[in-house]
Amino acid sequence: MGGSVFSTITINYFLCTTMDKLLFTPGPLTTSMTVKEAMLHDLGSRDTSFINTVKEIREQLLAHGGVSKDTGYETVIMQGSGTFGVEAMISSAVPRDGKLLVLINGAYGERIAKIASIHKIPYEALVCDEDQTPDLQKTEELLASGGFTHMIIVHCETTSGIFNPIDQFGMLAARYGVGYLVDSMSAFGAVPVDIAACHIDFLVSSSNKCIEGVPGFSFVIARRDSLIKCQGQADTLVLDMYAQWVGLENDGQFRFTPPTHALLAFRQALRELDEEGGVAARAARYQDNFNTLAEGMSTLGFREYLGRDRQGYIINSYHYPEAAAFDFKVFYNKLNDRGYIIYPGKLTKANCFRIGNIGRLYTKDVKALLAAISEVKAEMGF
Ligand SMILES: *Cc1c(COP(=O)(O)O)cnc(C)c1O
Repeated sequence: MGGSVFSTITINYFLCTTMDKLLFTPGPLTTSMTVKEAMLHDLGSRDTSFINTVKEIREQLLAHGGVSKDTGYETVIMQGSGTFGVEAMISSAVPRDGKLLVLINGAYGERIAKIASIHKIPYEALVCDEDQTPDLQKTEELLASGGFTHMIIVHCETTSGIFNPIDQFGMLAARYGVGYLVDSMSAFGAVPVDIAACHIDFLVSSSNKCIEGVPGFSFVIARRDSLIKCQGQADTLVLDMYAQWVGLENDGQFRFTPPTHALLAFRQALRELDEEGGVAARAARYQDNFNTLAEGMSTLGFREYLGRDRQGYIINSYHYPEAAAFDFKVFYNKLNDRGYIIYPGKLTKANCFRIGNIGRLYTKDVKALLAAISEVKAEMGF
């Protein structure tokens, strides 16, 4: 090909920017070209520039949670997807003679209970309907009588898109002196949180959600004095959050092969979060996406699953239209053919599908999706 490497690269760039489908999902998400480009480097895991990358990431994450090392907080990065971080956090933080209160209003809460059961951690679940937030009064009664040492809640329950009031449950945790764990996987980076004011001991999220990095790792932001108590409690080698922290603190390195490329992408994603104006600005963009989507879907006749007072702006759930002509698989495939990926539902009692507002998406993208949905609706005749 005449040795013109340059044009091959240009063409490849053109193809990957224009041919990637847009991901209206809870993750992995559409990322910026510059985040993808940040991965075009091979870094040694013991090299200074890699160690500095990890240091920058760990400090930035604390800042986005409104805390710092100086105020007594630490970041532990864990290889793997988000659930690896959730399992690391639970199995390391809750001792086997402790007792965990699991607040459940969706599939991710159920997953937490499963993790506790696999690790033989004594727990009790307070389960409520998927369109409701857990009851504060019932939670308080349980904390007052149940002998609990820890409590855990999901921040944005991605099953429906509902926001749980983590600040109010945090007040209860503080009042009853229990350790407070939060799965903020699909909220952190786009929903402002003051970790100290919410009395959070451990908050977990991952690289490929609202920070807009690529998949590869999760991270836990922890109160240092709570983290120190985790020593020797994990019944797993790789998911030992305390040992992982000690490793990172000692020489800035991971105990086992780190996802170097995903970390480089994430550092770039964090810089872009700052350029955008931080968590508040990202929240505003996602809210714009949400409002555009909600208005357009309502015009098209789709019904929201959640009441507006509980609906978060991360992901929306819509009931299947009742018309016989609607078939989710066909609907999904027709949108997919047009370059838009939506997400199936995961609710136990309602037939819904989901549309995410997060990732490198703007209102123009949401409008394009709405136009495609309108077309598909006419084509399918529902
Ligand atoms: C995405 C998500 C997780 C983690 O899922 P992985 O597939 O393991 O990355 C956990 N909790 C919530 C609430 C999530 O949205």
